[in-house]
Amino acid sequence: MRTHARAVVVGGGVVGVSSLYHLAKKGWSDVVLIERKELTSGSTWHAAGLLPLFNLSYSVGQIHKYSVALYKTLEAETGQNVGFAVCSNIRLARTKDRWDEFMYYRGVAETIGVTVNTLTSAELKEIWPLCNVDGVIGAIQHPDDGYIQPADLTQAFAIGARKLGAEINRNTSVTAIERTASGEWLVKTDKGDITCEHVVSATGNFARKTGAMVGLDVPVIPVQHQYIVTEDHPEIVKRREQGLPELGVLREADSSWYMRAEKGGLLLGPYEKGAPCCYVDGPSDQSEYELFQEDLDRLMPHVEAAIARVPAFGEVGIKKIYNGAIAYTPDGSPIVGPAWGLKNFWLNEGHSFGVTAAGGAGWQLAEWIVEGEPSLDMMGVDPRRFGPYATRGYLKTKNEEAYANVFTPHYPDEERVAARPLKTTPCYGRMQALGAVFGSVYGWERPGWFAPQDVSLTDADLAKPEVLMNHNHAPATDDGRIVEKWSFRRSNYFRHVGNECLNVRDNVGLQDMSAFAKCWISGTGAEAWLDRLLANRIPKKVGRIALCHLLSKNGGVRAEFTVYKAREGGFYLVSAGAFERHDHDYLRKALPTDGSVNFNPITTQWGVLVLAGPRSRDVLRKLTDADLSNGAFPWLTGREINVGVATAHAVRVNFVGELGWEFHHPIEQQNAIFDALMAAGAEFGIKPYGIKAMSSLSIEKSYRLIPRELSIEYSAYESGLDRFVHPNKGDFIGRDALVAGRAKGLNWQFATMEVMGVTDAGSDARGSEPIHKGGKLVGRATNGGYGWRCGKSLALAMVRPELAAVGTELEITILGESKRCVIIPESPWDPENARLRG
Ligand SMILES: Cc1cc2nc3c(=O)[nH]c(=O)nc-3n(C[C@H](O)[C@H](O)[C@H](O)COP(=O)(O)OP(=O)(O)OC[C@H]3O[C@@H](n4cnc5c(N)ncnc54)[C@H](O)[C@@H]3O)c2cc1C
Repeated sequence: MRTHARAVVVGGGVVGVSSLYHLAKKGWSDVVLIERKELTSGSTWHAAGLLPLFNLSYSVGQIHKYSVALYKTLEAETGQNVGFAVCSNIRLARTKDRWDEFMYYRGVAETIGVTVNTLTSAELKEIWPLCNVDGVIGAIQHPDDGYIQPADLTQAFAIGARKLGAEINRNTSVTAIERTASGEWLVKTDKGDITCEHVVSATGNFARKTGAMVGLDVPVIPVQHQYIVTEDHPEIVKRREQGLPELGVLREADSSWYMRAEKGGLLLGPYEKGAPCCYVDGPSDQSEYELFQEDLDRLMPHVEAAIARVPAFGEVGIKKIYNGAIAYTPDGSPIVGPAWGLKNFWLNEGHSFGVTAAGGAGWQLAEWIVEGEPSLDMMGVDPRRFGPYATRGYLKTKNEEAYANVFTPHYPDEERVAARPLKTTPCYGRMQALGAVFGSVYGWERPGWFAPQDVSLTDADLAKPEVLMNHNHAPATDDGRIVEKWSFRRSNYFRHVGNECLNVRDNVGLQDMSAFAKCWISGTGAEAWLDRLLANRIPKKVGRIALCHLLSKNGGVRAEFTVYKAREGGFYLVSAGAFERHDHDYLRKALPTDGSVNFNPITTQWGVLVLAGPRSRDVLRKLTDADLSNGAFPWLTGREINVGVATAHAVRVNFVGELGWEFHHPIEQQNAIFDALMAAGAEFGIKPYGIKAMSSLSIEKSYRLIPRELSIEYSAYESGLDRFVHPNKGDFIGRDALVAGRAKGLNWQFATMEVMGVTDAGSDARGSEPIHKGGKLVGRATNGGYGWRCGKSLALAMVRPELAAVGTELEITILGESKRCVIIPESPWDPENARLRG
């Protein structure tokens, strides 16, 4: 065994071996893999081997696409047959909502280059003659995917990696991982130690145990997953004998199962409610090829549904039930990328579709390690999308929920209920009393919208589908009302959100944005350090505010901060609540080692209340002795003031494009400020508003968001951030690539569009819809919604630069329907910012 290596991969499942292979492919031959038992002896050996391309996440969709393409080439490269049956994947829809989901997905798939066909029930019957098509309203089919032999795939990666010089050590356990004095890693094993620059943790169900070796609380706990293999069925055997095409993998999402032919029999894999977490403290050291006791009772509702759909399944006996551990995270997507707080420690963990994801995840991780950047937007799988709240109790609850919801429709407005409320701000109860319907971000409860007292949906309104996975509305409020139906279309809350928007336009609104990530940067070197880090000019005068972006070395946007110079040498940085760990990790890792800059995170110590609307000055004037006139307190400035008896840094910015202030305050004073604002605002028509209203209002201002139109995949110029980027100010991260990219010519341009012909029964764009010109794909929507102040259905988009001129007519496909859209000037509401400056 080598004693020194560039990188050590821990774990010899399909994900670890793919990581090794891709590092070697990138030219790092000096790489070593350590596996405690045999390759594939963790989860990989008992996987059903399905390769579903279907995924609504932009990051995961691209990862899966790469894998499926790669797996078709591996045999030619390595000589190892991987058993890839390209038999296609078919998903049935029984409800209108499911069809909407499929049509939304078809748009996502087109934007990332994945082929999806639609099938009528007659066409389905033709290619899957054993399927009873009663009640099926249609199906989608991926012609390019199918299933694979996971162990053979892993061996192919191993052969490929070894050929490129990588070393694989089996029956060797990593027992500890330590940092050396020189900053390298010392990986200790029971067969000797290896010193290396980078460590990749790809340890499947052991993820938390491996993480604990370096002090990480890795948000992965496995769940039990079962599948059933039947005895041979004469019809399947006959098909094989006749040389007929293999049956595609069939999925009835509304009954939560998948089925495929397995030799002469059938294989059925349900995703049941109530499947328990397992290996909560990690598997035992002896665990290897381990299966659990099967639980047929839990499977029965799905088995019955499967028999109704494919009667042949009930006509033969069960040969074997596999019940194995499948790694899960709270949102069901894997964690691929850098570990927080540790340099050169990488995670490729939490894979629940790890056979499918292994190729793409290994590829992107290797790019990240070797080149310092992945080429895809990986925010959807970044390990830092979870925070320190995602620990044992939360994970157990949330991961079981993620498993049970694999097949429920992934409504864009769905707010899953498990492990909530977890993080609440002091005004939570007050907002609840005002009718708040909460959503959750990064563990925080945030008002989504406010339901008036008379809102209560009936069973008829909810139109609950007659399917096993019946799931289309938010839980009841304390007084027993259901107030929110989830939908891919404009839903019951549409007009109520509109009323909140109009009140912000006409009067004044109050919003709780305490979830914002917040920190102080101070010290003698603070200003110079921020200046080298961020693309905009750092505010020079005390009280000034600037919107600043942290770019990738390729000039894409990694993070966005509002930077407020609150005092000499003291900067207050605010960024999106969902990205606290991500954004703060980049700041922390970039800190100089000479102690000249201090980083002090204060997210949980400070709350944020936003007062916005033309009457906000009238409200605030009643509560403070600070001079609020435009001359004394202009837009984009801040200062510490009293709000009633409480203290806050009032900053004149907001995300809704109206006159207003954000109050950043000691969290224990929140309710004093809240009550004072509500009381003072009563005569001016103050009302609370939620995230849904904020989203609509911000789209009318063409405000960009990570990871939508701001991403590492688009340069800051492509995202239209010209006024926030100053290449002449001196060097900063990404500057050279940005300048070179512009000289070469941009591939994309940010655009604001009006979408024509959207009715209340339809849907506004949401993001990820394909945009066409004359039938050719020319862009993708990144956000969208109805703009209540403009009275227009709007979309934000990235389109080819030659089609970005105002007035250009394009087509956008929303839920399978093509709509005319027109590029309009940026910021359709108040383009001069007169209201913000008012
Ligand atoms: C019943 C079932 C069916 C499934 N079906 C599918 C499917 O159809 N399609 C799909 O894509 N996915 C499927 N999966 C999921 C899939 O099996 C996993 O996502 C995938 O195998 C994960 O691979 P991995 O490499 O991350 O983990 P593993 O295969 O578990 O590998 C991790 C390895 O790390 C090693 N290790 C851990 N700690 C150490 C240490 N300290 N030192 C050295 N080595 C260590 C372990 O021994 C293990 O071999 C299924 C899972 C189950 C349970």
